[in-house]
Amino acid sequence: MKRILAILLVILFSLTLFASCNKKQESTSPSSPSSLPSSSAPSPAPELSTSLPQGTSPEDVEAEPVKIPFGLYKITSSDGKVLGYDNTNTPGYEETDYKRTCWTVESFLDAKGRRGYTLYAGDLPSFALTAQKALPGGTTKVFQSSAVNPEKKQLFYLEEYEDGTFALKSAVNPIFALAATDETPSLALFAEAGEEIKWKFEPLTEGCDRYVEWRSVNGLFTVRMGPDILRRARISSERMQEWANQMENVYYSYVELTGFVPYQHIIFKAYEGEEYPGYVMGNYMVISADKDFMYTDLGKMAQRDTMGVTDYNFLLLHEMGHMFDWGRQWDFEGEAMTDIKVSYALYDNPEAVAAPSEFGAKEYFNGQNINECYNECAGNKPMNGTYNIFRTAAIFTEFGQMDNWETMKKTYHWFEESGWKAQNNTEMLEKYVEKLSEFSGKDIRSMIADKEWETIVAKTQG
Ligand SMILES: [Zn+2]
Repeated sequence: MKRILAILLVILFSLTLFASCNKKQESTSPSSPSSLPSSSAPSPAPELSTSLPQGTSPEDVEAEPVKIPFGLYKITSSDGKVLGYDNTNTPGYEETDYKRTCWTVESFLDAKGRRGYTLYAGDLPSFALTAQKALPGGTTKVFQSSAVNPEKKQLFYLEEYEDGTFALKSAVNPIFALAATDETPSLALFAEAGEEIKWKFEPLTEGCDRYVEWRSVNGLFTVRMGPDILRRARISSERMQEWANQMENVYYSYVELTGFVPYQHIIFKAYEGEEYPGYVMGNYMVISADKDFMYTDLGKMAQRDTMGVTDYNFLLLHEMGHMFDWGRQWDFEGEAMTDIKVSYALYDNPEAVAAPSEFGAKEYFNGQNINECYNECAGNKPMNGTYNIFRTAAIFTEFGQMDNWETMKKTYHWFEESGWKAQNNTEMLEKYVEKLSEFSGKDIRSMIADKEWETIVAKTQG
């Protein structure tokens, strides 16, 4: 299946970020290999317990626990037909091809708080099984889907049987369930159907040769890298697992700072060549990074481990930060905005260090001195008509550090809770500064030099 993500808006590149920092490259060849991997078995996905999708409340989730945790599954009918899909996005039955029989299952709550499940075709959540019409014999198709709130036709309620199989009832009209009929999977009347509506969900822990997967302890963050990453970056499987867990910490930090939960799960995909070092797209829960870029970057992580410091990886913090700005009314300049969030993630995880890729393994920053990094990338000078992402990030990082990020948190939460809408980016900037002033009791605008302020305003107008 072709993955055409015509998803609206922004492709947010790290390219500008890397292009604009003038720091000279250092040699970064990995040294001192740490213990090499013995196994790369993916960890099972435990039930999601601590993070909620938008529009859900903890009561809803407690009322209806997750029956099938987020993850990859092979789905088989009671008579052994393996649910698959072909090149034309038509569901059917497949026996052998992993890529055409693997489904990503994720649960969502519908408008009434009832838990439904979406079956994404393949190992990236882009296209989902869709009930075209909820009628007897109604056909199914695989259509592009939203990772935030799939349409009702892509939600199925699960009815569990004693033997551990499930019926998949269409949320459009739950009297119909997915049946393994002879030609293709279609909808049958639940009350009249027999064994053909019973499906077995088998978690997939192996079979994919394209990547190795590490899933964080609460299942919120999945790291997928090429199988040769461990050898090439000289990093251990245990360290990769630890990193996935650390990225889950960062996810919690970003939720805490912003009050916004863009996705229930995030997948970091770095097993293919990409045009940019890293990027995210709006309404899509996947962070993509270039494989070769990550080999080098994680090589530095391994080196920093030998120095006794815990590298969280700047690129990943940066890209994940973009996700927490998606569609938000504070996002007056996306690249600086995400780097401000990186500063908070480092503050909130005191063991963490990070550095943009221009820095060598021996140079890294924590939540206390990250603005030294940003200022260095900005040439250690204030903006005087020429906009600089890093300088803007440094200015606002200082306002965050001023009172342990309390004012910043109140500011973001105000945006989330008030429903305020901006007409343009300049209004966003002005409101952001207005709220920082209100919550800190300081005149934040007057603490930014006039020329710098004018430069940032001009950027929001350009
Ligand atoms: Zn970026």
